[in-house]
Amino acid sequence: FAVVANKGSEQKLINFDDIGGQEVAKQELRESLDFIIDVQRIQKLGIRPIKGILLSGPPGTGKTLLAKAAAQYTNSSFVAASGSEFVEMYVGVGAQRVRQMFKQARDLARQNKQASAVVFIDEIEVLGGKRGQGNSNMEYDQTLNELLVQMDGVSVDDDIRCLVIGATNRVDILDPAILRPGRFDRQVRVDLPDKIGRRSILDLHTKNKPLAAEVSLDEIAQDTFGFSGAHLESLANEAAILALREGSEAIRMDHLRSAVDKVILGEKLDRVPTP
Ligand code: ATP
Repeated sequence: FAVVANKGSEQKLINFDDIGGQEVAKQELRESLDFIIDVQRIQKLGIRPIKGILLSGPPGTGKTLLAKAAAQYTNSSFVAASGSEFVEMYVGVGAQRVRQMFKQARDLARQNKQASAVVFIDEIEVLGGKRGQGNSNMEYDQTLNELLVQMDGVSVDDDIRCLVIGATNRVDILDPAILRPGRFDRQVRVDLPDKIGRRSILDLHTKNKPLAAEVSLDEIAQDTFGFSGAHLESLANEAAILALREGSEAIRMDHLRSAVDKVILGEKLDRVPTP
């Protein structure tokens, strides 16, 4: 059962600046996080603390990166797991794993002398899918209930604040129970990047690569409608491999164009022509 930690390990720390585009998502997320950071003011005003934030959008758009950046921004420890890792044949195991994860998050925060932890759960729809869609069994219910209990944080040691960030690309199938106030009551959309977003993602992923003078990343951004951040990262990598294979010192436009085609073919991307 794999959980990733952010401190004292080789895990790369991620800042909001390491995430290209997604300006609206970054802004919304930062606003929610500012609420969390300023605990005293929040308490004074009697505001209910945010327990959960839901990031929704297509695969590869930077949801995991945003969760990591949220941990950095709030000086929190970071642990991550995927919803499918909690799903077991045996009743009770999923709930136990949820407890383990929160314990691990709090232990890590104490170890790092941090006051808070970010618990990131990818594919949250696996745990919090609507009832009666083939997953209405006891194991799912218990696992989800345990998550909600941990989010409420009443029965557990409260010296470390836990913020749960869930990610999904199927917000439509989420059980409304998990979107109720006090649970995942903030939702942030993380959409495919527009042209400007694609340009800044390309900038980030070519920063440490030699580009020939003729290269126009604007043109590549224009030609990659429908690409996610993950596709653009892969494109930059493929272009560098093509340059290496040719023995070329720098990445040229033809390498980048071939890499675009390669990513489209590889992913069978469903694209419409760029307007
Ligand atoms: P999934 O829904 O499949 O879990 P995700 O939305 O969590 O995907 P990430 O894991 O954050 O996506 O992104 C995968 C990789 O794609 C990142 O490690 C990074 O290399 C690249 N990437 C995605 N989005 C961005 C972005 N906005 N800026 C820079 N790189 C990005």
